[in-house]
Amino acid sequence: MTDFAAASGLGQKAGIALAATGLALTVTVPVTGPVMATPAPGQAASAVSAAPQPEVTAEAAAQIDFSRSSVVTQGDPDGKLKQLLSAQSAGSITRAASAGSLGPPLAQLATVSPFGFRVSPITGGSGDFHRGQDFAAQCGTSVLAAASGTVTFVGWHQYGGGNRVVVDHGNGLETTYNHLSSANVKMGQTVNRGDVVALSGTTGASTGCHLHFEVQVNGEVVDPSGWL
Ligand SMILES: [Zn+2]
Repeated sequence: MTDFAAASGLGQKAGIALAATGLALTVTVPVTGPVMATPAPGQAASAVSAAPQPEVTAEAAAQIDFSRSSVVTQGDPDGKLKQLLSAQSAGSITRAASAGSLGPPLAQLATVSPFGFRVSPITGGSGDFHRGQDFAAQCGTSVLAAASGTVTFVGWHQYGGGNRVVVDHGNGLETTYNHLSSANVKMGQTVNRGDVVALSGTTGASTGCHLHFEVQVNGEVVDPSGWL
């Protein structure tokens, strides 16, 4: 928890990313004082003085690796999510705002069963409430953290999820990954968006290899498609 909170500063992340690239820009800021505009006759000098815009230039010799610098300028892939969660609790975020804030839990997303009421694939009964979104995934496919966070559960889900991993993203937002064949993370571990947290499987109440992905807001499941 502490690690996640400490690493959540955007500026800090950018700084780390910049340091990690070894990219060093020499910035020249003139030390001369403010350039004062010549006051018009009869006008006080202070009325026309403007804040100087320091001229910032990179030295001609500065090496810029564009592929790396673009990563820095694009910023943290979690940026949108962190902005949302720092401004408000997950429960008050609208679907319009949350869309696109989580990353895909699989490299390729093909929905095989959406969130919400459906005919149960297990019992055949109607009125089954599907608590997550199912994505096609052959058993053994890498399952990716949808955002950075802390792993809060790795184990057997007694209500049908089979082998399950839960990642807490802070401020009431969690994602869960279910029917896994194996887990690649431990309880308490910090993960980054896109990290492989597990391999998909068909454990628990499952009729075949796939990933059951859930998004929980303050402990209640919500439609993952509103966040992806
Ligand atoms: Zn499912």
